[in-house]
Amino acid sequence: MARRPLVVRSVPALRKITSRYRAKGETVALVPTMGALHDGHLSLVRVAHRRAKRVIVSIFVNPAQFAPSEDFKTYPRSFNTDLAMLAALKVDLIWAPTVAAMYPEGFATKIAPEGPALVGLEDRFRPHFFGGVATVVSKLFLQTTPDFAIFGEKDYQQLRVVTRMARDLDLPLRVIGVPTVREKDGLAMSSRNAYLSPDERKTAPLLHRVLKETAAAIKSGTLPNAAIGQGRGRIEQAGFKLDYLEARHA
Ligand code: AMP
Repeated sequence: MARRPLVVRSVPALRKITSRYRAKGETVALVPTMGALHDGHLSLVRVAHRRAKRVIVSIFVNPAQFAPSEDFKTYPRSFNTDLAMLAALKVDLIWAPTVAAMYPEGFATKIAPEGPALVGLEDRFRPHFFGGVATVVSKLFLQTTPDFAIFGEKDYQQLRVVTRMARDLDLPLRVIGVPTVREKDGLAMSSRNAYLSPDERKTAPLLHRVLKETAAAIKSGTLPNAAIGQGRGRIEQAGFKLDYLEARHA
């Protein structure tokens, strides 16, 4: 049985441990998550181990990045299973603050990202989202003081927002992006896949197929607008309610 990671829930307790790491000259990699872990998260943890001596995984379902109409209350939570998975991967520390520790009474400061946070993709449908992410991620960085922070390319706009923020605020760490881990049929792994009905689960891989084929069509000379128009049509025909399908420079 692997040694259990330390589970830490308060900032002072966290600082005690990270300052011990620092005193020994040990590097630290942070993997921020909202829990309900799957193989996508675990691939981030493996990259973290390759980069640094100590690996911290944060588990925090961040109320600030959910709109009132969204699924904060019902977001899947499975702390004990998460803990077992992270123990098996020899994670050193799980940073799992309470909401009150993260946002104490009177909390009144926010990071307002621009640039990649305002390009009219995810932000068009979830205007609260990147402000919530940037605020909590900057707090996670200041709390854990990592040398490396590992994020998934699945949330590509988020990866760009966090990278920009780290650079703009001169945060002394490197943000590392990790390729998307998919199910065999191409569906990106996601904690929210648990919401899909059996029928929806059967249809879901179409999304990745259309993305791949649209990109291939553009590469081989089809005009982007035509390829994307066709892609949108196929996705909607399959019964999806499409927010956006667009081609953008990375
Ligand atoms: P979440 O718990 O959904 O907030 O995700 C935490 C981190 O894991 C983020 O950096 C995500 O981009 C990353 N992630 C989630 N799903 C995947 C996946 N299928 N492949 C790679 N990274 C992922």
